[in-house]
Parts: sequence; C-alpha cells; structure tokens
Amino acid sequence: MIDRRLLLAGGGAALGLGLWRARGLAAEALGFDPAVDFALAGQMTQGGWARGRAPLGTRLLTFNRKPVQIASDRSFFIAFDRDSGARGELVAEMAGGAISRGGFAITPRAWQIERIPLGPKPGAPPNPDYARRREGELARINAARRIDHMIDGWRQKFLWPVYGRLSGRFGSQRIYNGVPGSYHSGMDIATGASGTPFVAPADGVVILAAEASFSLEGRLLMIDHGMGLNSAFLHCSAHAVKEGDVVRQGQYIGKIGATGRATGPHLHWSIKWRDSRLDPLLFVGALPQRPDAK
Ligand SMILES: [Zn+2]
Repeated sequence: MIDRRLLLAGGGAALGLGLWRARGLAAEALGFDPAVDFALAGQMTQGGWARGRAPLGTRLLTFNRKPVQIASDRSFFIAFDRDSGARGELVAEMAGGAISRGGFAITPRAWQIERIPLGPKPGAPPNPDYARRREGELARINAARRIDHMIDGWRQKFLWPVYGRLSGRFGSQRIYNGVPGSYHSGMDIATGASGTPFVAPADGVVILAAEASFSLEGRLLMIDHGMGLNSAFLHCSAHAVKEGDVVRQGQYIGKIGATGRATGPHLHWSIKWRDSRLDPLLFVGALPQRPDAK
C-alpha cells in the first residue's frame, strides 16, 4: 500500500483545465507523480466542490468510502455537503491492486444563523389530499435526480443564471426557541420583477420541467450537469425548455416568477451532488457587475 500526498491546486472556481495542466507541470517538478498522485482543485469547504484527476491506471476511485465515477481522461468531480465533516479522503485502486490515498481538509463555514425567541410557526393541520399530492411531487423530484446523463457541464465554470440582488444565502437558518428550522437549501436571486429570463449556468439535460406548479417549488426546472451534479430552479413563471432537452451554458431556459411558496418573485437556485447540498455562490463567485456596465 502506498500513501501519497494529494496535490491541492489552490482555491478559486475559475480554475480552468489549462491552468490546471500548467500547475500539474509545475507540480511534477516538485515531485508530483501522476502514476500515484491525485490532482485536485476547487473550493474545499462546506457547500463546496472539487474537480480532480485520478492517478494513472486507477480502476476504482472512492471519496469518503463511496465510489466515484471517473471520465475517460481520469477526471472526476466530488463535492462537500453544507454539514460535511472536516476531512476528505480519496482512495484509488489500481489495476494491479496497488492503492493510492490522498487526504485533505474541508474547511467549516460560519453559516448565517438567526435566533428567534419564539416557537416555530404552527404548520397547517394535516391534510390527506396535500400529503398525497406532495408524495407525488417528491417522487418526481427523486426520480429526476436518479437520472444521470453523459454530459460535461460538471467540467465548466458556472455562470450566474441571471443578474440580480442576492436576496437569500445558501445555508442560512433560523433557530426557533432553540429548535433549528431547516436551512435555506439554495441561493435566491431577485430582479424585482416576474418574467426576467434566466439562462443555464452550465451545459446539461433537462430532467424535470413541471407543467403545473408544485406546492412548495412552484414551476420547478431541474438540469442534470453530469457526474451526479444537478441544478434546480424554483418558482419559475415559465419554462423555455422541456424534459429531455439538451441545454448549453448561457442558453435561455425560463423566466423568474413567484409560483409555489414564495413571498415575491425570485429565482431560487439550488445545486446538489448526489445527496450533498451545495452553495451555488461557490460555483459562480461574487456577483459580477452588470454585463452592460463596462
Ligand atoms: Zn430560496
């Protein structure tokens, strides 16, 4: 068994493959051996992600003991849940049976927590019609998430789907009288109006486009970016694509709305990798200036 260190090529979602190759070359000068070492770059923090390359001859790759898909060029994608533990470990098993390991730290985040000195708002009394409807909606969402397409969106630097005000952060949470409510599972972008078009942040395949409003998500649109990574867009007023469509980065896919449970028009964008909930802000970086303001 060989224990090798992991090459960490800095943070920054903007790390492109070209830069990564350049870093790889520099790393080889520092003793990086692609036959046994991993390359890894991204945002190694809770809600973050990383792209990497497995050592040559990797037959089986695991991340924290779960198998991870590898592309034909040995590239892979992993990500870290909002409540992820502080350590990540990659293990590659080679064709000859040799094992290569790489461990790294996953930095904790200070989430925006609001303490409310009152109990949670009482929910509506149980309603069997609602329960049945909700069960159907969740079944569709879960079925959509199980679809995995051969699409390379996971390799791209994500775009902001729309320019607007960041009206809700991923991971924020209210604690009612000591009882934590569920945290905010996405990032909210508000433009102040319904009907603003938004675009695909990366290449993908449409895996769900709800014709009728879901009870919480409203008109939900979901896109698979490949390798277990997907985006969901909630509260849309309209969709410009249908299930099964291949969409390209920057393509117009829908309009912002306030359908479902929303207090005003906004785009709620959430990203998941497998069961891990991720922070979209760590995929796109700080809100850019309006493209027309040079
Ligand atoms: Zn939201």
